[in-house]
Amino acid sequence: MSDAERPFEPIEPNAGEDFEPVDVFPDSTDFDLRPGADSCYKCSACDTNCPVAEVDDDFPGPKFQGPEQWRLKQQDDDYGVDESVMDCSNCMRCDSACPSGVPLSQMHNTARGEYVEEEMSKLSVEYWRNRILANYRTSAWLASKAPRLANVAMNFGPARWLMEKTMGITSERDFPAFATETFREWWERKGAAAGSRERAQEHRERRGEPRDADKRVAYFHGCYANYNTPEVGKSMVRVFEHFGYEVVVPEQGCSGTPMFANGMLSDARRHAEVNVSSFADLVDQGYDAIASCTSCSMALRQEYPELFDIDGIDDVAKHTFESVEYLRIHEDLREELREADVDGDLAREFAYHAPCHARNQGLERQAVELFRDLDGVDVADVGDSCSGISGTYGWKDEKYEKSMAIGEEMFEHMEATEGETGMTECPTCAMQMEHGTGYEIRHPLELLDAALVE
Ligand code: SF4
Ligand code: SF4
Repeated sequence: MSDAERPFEPIEPNAGEDFEPVDVFPDSTDFDLRPGADSCYKCSACDTNCPVAEVDDDFPGPKFQGPEQWRLKQQDDDYGVDESVMDCSNCMRCDSACPSGVPLSQMHNTARGEYVEEEMSKLSVEYWRNRILANYRTSAWLASKAPRLANVAMNFGPARWLMEKTMGITSERDFPAFATETFREWWERKGAAAGSRERAQEHRERRGEPRDADKRVAYFHGCYANYNTPEVGKSMVRVFEHFGYEVVVPEQGCSGTPMFANGMLSDARRHAEVNVSSFADLVDQGYDAIASCTSCSMALRQEYPELFDIDGIDDVAKHTFESVEYLRIHEDLREELREADVDGDLAREFAYHAPCHARNQGLERQAVELFRDLDGVDVADVGDSCSGISGTYGWKDEKYEKSMAIGEEMFEHMEATEGETGMTECPTCAMQMEHGTGYEIRHPLELLDAALVE
């Protein structure tokens, strides 16, 4: 029995209707709009829900970035995308706000891709700064070769000053620490897929389930759980094995989230091709894809099929879930938690922030509802504001103040709760929560692990 129905259904382009895809911009051969692109009736609901427009009077807002620029472009082939599209943080809140189903974030992603491709100088500092930030996986891979040295070097004051002055990467934030053992190294040490199968079978026996039950998931850990917070990935594996799931960890690249936000669509496509190819094979064999980061699950479910045409992409989108969401659908998590105690030194009081990309998947209340009956634990919802960091956005020197102004409401609500520990599913929201309040931040999987496994 499950305690949740799947709240998010991936978009099936053209499902059940004769829809001719519309080119966003006539010169583009890569990107199509999903149905509804021309349905804007100018109600401005998207603008009033845009966190950037709320703190920046110069930002024209999602209605302009999407439908209005599209119309201008249709009227004039020479119209160049306005540079303000680079001020959109890709939080995707405007998608949920629009009552008319206009695919705003898809239009923004496409327009940003065109702006970077055609308007931005490839010799500019901004282009290379954005490219480095968007390709975090490459820097993290390099840092993982000497993590202790990288941790000292990346937060060395004069180096940070220089990075801010020459590249525009703010020195206000501390770089997150790189783990001395990556999640994938730990995974290999634990016997990889064969080790997981053995442990899952033992748990099935303990639970009175058939030893050969068909419970298999493929884990998309993303860059951050691999290089910075392997404890989230380890909790994911332990919790899923506890419920009798065999876990595999296929070859994978970045989800592409920071690349979409920086208009680096060719980079994003390269990574999407690797991810779709590895996960489509596993989906064919009966696996579901699980992500512990809500922006990664958002990318695989929504942004990939909206932006790319890759063999197997729709199947992967349909079979992708956020990790806790998946367990809520397939297991009686709340019942197990009613019987559980939290072991170890994990906090008992949490200030929970729902990431914007969790909201877009209908998952904003799941952590609060899930832990409601867990004895001695209090998870307080800090409201529906955006954290403001939006991945790489809050790392840019010129956007740092805006990012902190957006986050102000969340910081105040966190500080009004009991305890000094935060909780969220998004690694960059976690950075912002920690930066704004000094709280330690945990993932819901870590609390599930402490309650059910440890
Ligand atoms: S994605 Fe977020 S920042 Fe960008 S226009 Fe929409 S609401 Fe505003
Ligand atoms: S919310 Fe939708 S319909 Fe209303 S102005 Fe924005 S895009 Fe147009």
